[in-house]
Amino acid sequence: MYRSHSCGELRASHVSQEVTLAGWVQKSRDKGFMIWVDLRDRYGITQLIFDEERTPANVFEKAKTLGREFVIQVTGNVIEREAKNAKIPTGDIEILVTELTILNASLLPPFTIEDATDGGEDIRMKYRYLDIRRNPVKNSLIFRHKVTMEVRKYLSSQEFIEVETPYLIKSTPEGARDFVVPSRMNEGQFYALPQSPQTFKQLLMVGGMDKYFQIVKCFRDEDLRADRQPEFTQIDCEMAFVEQEDILNVFEGLTRHLLKEIKGIDVEKFPRMTFDHAMKTYGNDKPDIRFGMEFGELNDVAQHKDFNVFNSAELVVGIAVPGAASFTRKEIDKLIDWVKRPQIGALGMVYVKYNEDGSFKSSVDKFYDQEDLAKWAEKTGAKPGDLICVLSGATNKVRAQLSALRMEMAERLGLRNPEEFAPLWVVDFPLLELDEETGHYHAMHHPFTSPKPGQLELLDTNPSDVKANAYDLVLNGNEIGGGSIRIHDKQMQAIMFKHLGFTEEEAKAQFGFLMDAFQYGAPPHGGLAFGLDRLVAILGGQETIRDFIAFPKNNSGRDVMIDAPAPIDDEQLKELSIKLDM
Ligand code: ASP
Repeated sequence: MYRSHSCGELRASHVSQEVTLAGWVQKSRDKGFMIWVDLRDRYGITQLIFDEERTPANVFEKAKTLGREFVIQVTGNVIEREAKNAKIPTGDIEILVTELTILNASLLPPFTIEDATDGGEDIRMKYRYLDIRRNPVKNSLIFRHKVTMEVRKYLSSQEFIEVETPYLIKSTPEGARDFVVPSRMNEGQFYALPQSPQTFKQLLMVGGMDKYFQIVKCFRDEDLRADRQPEFTQIDCEMAFVEQEDILNVFEGLTRHLLKEIKGIDVEKFPRMTFDHAMKTYGNDKPDIRFGMEFGELNDVAQHKDFNVFNSAELVVGIAVPGAASFTRKEIDKLIDWVKRPQIGALGMVYVKYNEDGSFKSSVDKFYDQEDLAKWAEKTGAKPGDLICVLSGATNKVRAQLSALRMEMAERLGLRNPEEFAPLWVVDFPLLELDEETGHYHAMHHPFTSPKPGQLELLDTNPSDVKANAYDLVLNGNEIGGGSIRIHDKQMQAIMFKHLGFTEEEAKAQFGFLMDAFQYGAPPHGGLAFGLDRLVAILGGQETIRDFIAFPKNNSGRDVMIDAPAPIDDEQLKELSIKLDM
């Protein structure tokens, strides 16, 4: 028996028991005649005491050799501490050690195993197994476990069953590049790792499974800006014989269950917003609705004066930043520089201070009088004391820019409270999206998404206007889930593929199996997937998903601990019939 108790377990009620503990040396303090050691395991820290008078001499000598992160086993008696430590649950007691075994020595760790470590991100990732010993990472992993258990509990209670689907598959388009795996037994042929189990879960519906879920790894070879990982985890779900409303209700139920069980928060029915409204009002299809600063479009009131910048713009749009009229000239200049950074890309920013006395002072006073500016205030909902920030340009671009500014201002004003949760359904997404570079349409969600009833004719005339039975669940400005009602009819699916630019042969080669299946009694079905990493991070009140992943990759998709990806040797290449051309 390595241990009778964990390092987080012993209390005053255990005093005078003999116990055996095992764990890591957090730190040791050697006072000459007395040595204290903090012994740590996943459950906590217990103080050990070695005393020249009361501890056997050989044990006392051995205790002097202990270094940080040594793995040890001790036996001793629980005694009451003289100086109690109210900060830790075991702080009333200590162990007067009688036996000590060094199970394994340790090199000096390259960073301190403390909550506030001296180790930077890179070094922590290289020695992630040491990082995991730290509370912030350890607790994040435990937190993730709790969330996934609640997901499984809830979905099982709703009669979903978890089914595994293969990882070695054929491309499933989710808008990213595939990771491919060469097949040794099938020379010159490759599997693709799933970007999601999309087609398989649809086939499970054809197979009559009715309600499926899976907590599953997905793989997307995309640029890793914005806190993404090349492999990430989804809570992937599908249901048969459902309409959009059924799906929204079930997964609203799941989300509410998680908020209740994990955060102790009751949320009202989730609001719903159309994609068009979200874009117009927040410049974004995943609006953070914990705060206002809604967009006010100003074309009506700002154009046809002598200000050419606005006259020539497709959209003039502003937000009222609460209380920011007090910004100094310098602060405003900085803000203008901020929107002009290449990441945001605005050409400039017009501002209006709505002074407490009801007057306006703007950067375009030459072109607009007080009456004009009062109209801007009305459109943006500005109140005295607010600063109206106005951008102009091509609609899509300017909306994205103002959305970024809105989020930045909210951040600066402390309006993004991580302990406040504002879920939202965004519905009625467009079916197709125009790729401005190639001029081709591609599926906004994925090619298996059904158009809204009665919109089929529009596909030929106004493809951009066709709306889909597609929806996203947004939480605090993050898309945490998305899905759709699927096409379940072969002809319809063929029409979709055609509009997405697949020839009949290409569609057959890539998705023939699905179209075939649709001929054997495919039920109406739909589903969605949650991004588990992000969901857990948001519930955990963190901005980055990395600490909730045991072994994450860095921004270049590298695992710096195991040093992957890496070249493979010639022998292996030969076996795979692969020649490199670099
Ligand atoms: N497969 C989709 C995705 O990964 C989710 C869905 O439509 O269910 O985004």
